[in-house]
Amino acid sequence: RAAEDSRRIKELTNIIQELKGNIRVFVRVRPLLQGIENEDATSCIDCLKDDQLLLKNKINTKFEFEKVFGPNDTQSVVFNEIKPLATSLLDGFNVCIFAYGQTGSGKTHTMEGPADDPGVNYKILEEIFANVADRRDLFTYELNVGVLEVYNENLVDLLSDDKKKKIDVSITPTGVSVPNLTLTTVTDYQTTVGVIRKGLRSRNVGKNNLNEASSRSHSVTVVQCTCTNMSTNTTTTSKLYLVDLAGSERLKRTGTSGDREKESVLINKSLSALGDVFSALSQKSLHVPYRNSKLTSLLQDSLNNENGSKVLMLVNINPCVESAPESLCSLNFATRARQIELEKNKKVISCK
Ligand code: ADP
Ligand code: MG
Repeated sequence: RAAEDSRRIKELTNIIQELKGNIRVFVRVRPLLQGIENEDATSCIDCLKDDQLLLKNKINTKFEFEKVFGPNDTQSVVFNEIKPLATSLLDGFNVCIFAYGQTGSGKTHTMEGPADDPGVNYKILEEIFANVADRRDLFTYELNVGVLEVYNENLVDLLSDDKKKKIDVSITPTGVSVPNLTLTTVTDYQTTVGVIRKGLRSRNVGKNNLNEASSRSHSVTVVQCTCTNMSTNTTTTSKLYLVDLAGSERLKRTGTSGDREKESVLINKSLSALGDVFSALSQKSLHVPYRNSKLTSLLQDSLNNENGSKVLMLVNINPCVESAPESLCSLNFATRARQIELEKNKKVISCK
């Protein structure tokens, strides 16, 4: 069993190495929830294979991604496919993992998860600490964790007691940083869980028609990694970003006005800026428009193909029929982020 696991991990690591610089897109379709208004008993998504799904809207549309997780796939099944990225971080690559989707589609479940069923944020740290222990004869690692949110194009330091403290992205020839961001040095898994949970608990949440406490901000957990090779005494640095994006729903469905409307406009702007960056990267464009939003400015040295960054987009889907139009938009966003020939998908319909 252990040998089989290790063979599978090697195989996955190879696949990931081959895809170096590529953006990978996984889709996760959550279960229909019992007793929730507007969630009727029929799903508009069929997961056909482990890399294909069918969206049954007015017309049926088939989509293909690197991986499709269905309603019965557990946090562990999802994480198994993500695990090699922990090794990538410790090998010196920058890694970005995003959860994308409309409010209520399962982004926070996937990244955070309930305390008794932790998501990617925690599973990847557990894996990182296990790898650090395995490598201790050859390398020493220092890990620093920061938690922040991007709200209305401003950064908020979620680990600082002073929420009014101004922090911003600084771009210099040596890289991107956020001076004054509170960073906590972590040496074990349990402490790290506490640090991240504390930060994420102070996220800015608002109310709109789609979900009572929908997140109107992008939350970003960063793990900065400094590796010292003890035989050569050289150090390398890398960063892991874990991003729970703001809800991708379009403005007209949320019925917002005033501050909430301003938020929605900025959210849409920053998500489309992210989509533009993905699309430029996957087409290997010479110009990648990182500077069009705060989030892409912050992440630019970790999204960059040239330095071998690994980018994983987890697109979350609410399968209820009422959400079909939003699901179509999310699947189109995901398709655009991938480097694939459009013919592969039977039909790609604009959701503008
Ligand atoms: P989002 O962060 O995208 O707004 P949530 O993660 O809060 O969405 O999920 C909305 C609801 O669906 C929550 O009640 C969550 O517990 C539930 N949920 C999401 N994904 C799953 C899943 N894979 N299995 C079981 N419940 C889920
Ligand atoms: Mg959420």
